[in-house]
Amino acid sequence: MLVRRVLFALFLPISLAGAQQTDAQRARECPSCAEWNAPHRPFRLHGDTYFVGTHGLSAILITSPAGHVLIDAALPESAPLIGANIEALGFRMRDVKLIVNSHAHFDHAGGLAELQRASGARVLASAWSAEVMRRGESVPGDPQYGTVLDYPAVAGVKTFSFGDTLRVGPIAIVAHATPGHTPGGTSWSWRSCEASRCLDFVYADSQTPVSTDGFLYTKSTVYPAALADFERGHTTLERLSCDVLITPHPSASSLWERVAQDGQTPAKSLVDRDACKRYAANARRTLAQRVAQERGDRAP
Ligand SMILES: [Zn+2]
Repeated sequence: MLVRRVLFALFLPISLAGAQQTDAQRARECPSCAEWNAPHRPFRLHGDTYFVGTHGLSAILITSPAGHVLIDAALPESAPLIGANIEALGFRMRDVKLIVNSHAHFDHAGGLAELQRASGARVLASAWSAEVMRRGESVPGDPQYGTVLDYPAVAGVKTFSFGDTLRVGPIAIVAHATPGHTPGGTSWSWRSCEASRCLDFVYADSQTPVSTDGFLYTKSTVYPAALADFERGHTTLERLSCDVLITPHPSASSLWERVAQDGQTPAKSLVDRDACKRYAANARRTLAQRVAQERGDRAP
């Protein structure tokens, strides 16, 4: 226990040392970060699938005797919390063999470098996301380019193709293209069984059309496929077999309303076979409003 605390205490100063940041500076550049990074007790969602993130940012661990998969790494300052959560469940960081991501913004990819260092895991990403992760800063084409924060660059990121199934031992997770929020946005699906009860999980990427002032989804020259990409992703999410929806921001799919106060998770409330369809339908509505605004129409 003590060893673990010391180990994870080491990570944070390393990751933020370059920036020489104080809490006050961090609060100024990211007013939401402290709230997003509030600790949350890790817990089993179902079978081999666990929530190991913070209260405001998801990180999902899928475990097997042959090694584990981690989806998302939250903020740079979340890495020690995620690492401690994994070990509090009785798993070892060095058994995390693969780390993947939803989209390459600082609040979901910020902790990747530290968690990769702590585990020695491979990091695989879509081609666009991989480029951003290697730089630790976004590139033109990101609707939030210029305003989204930098984060520690990730070494040795390899790429997958959309539609690929990635495997660690018996774990098989499928990478689905759901771009739009960023050009590299990825959603993940896998099946998790507990005794004979199997559930199809979907980790659906953010679908919000958030942008820097001046970026227009309707006529972007740096991301001309933005609208078509979003629509493609919405259709994908609607069609996936989806018993349990998890999102990079737990609040975007009401996760905390679906689990009990004590962190135990009654599967009955967690399972909602319409959740992905509703998530996609909401995303379509939000995008339609944004498009209407950009075209100067009255919002529907
Ligand atoms: Zn984002």
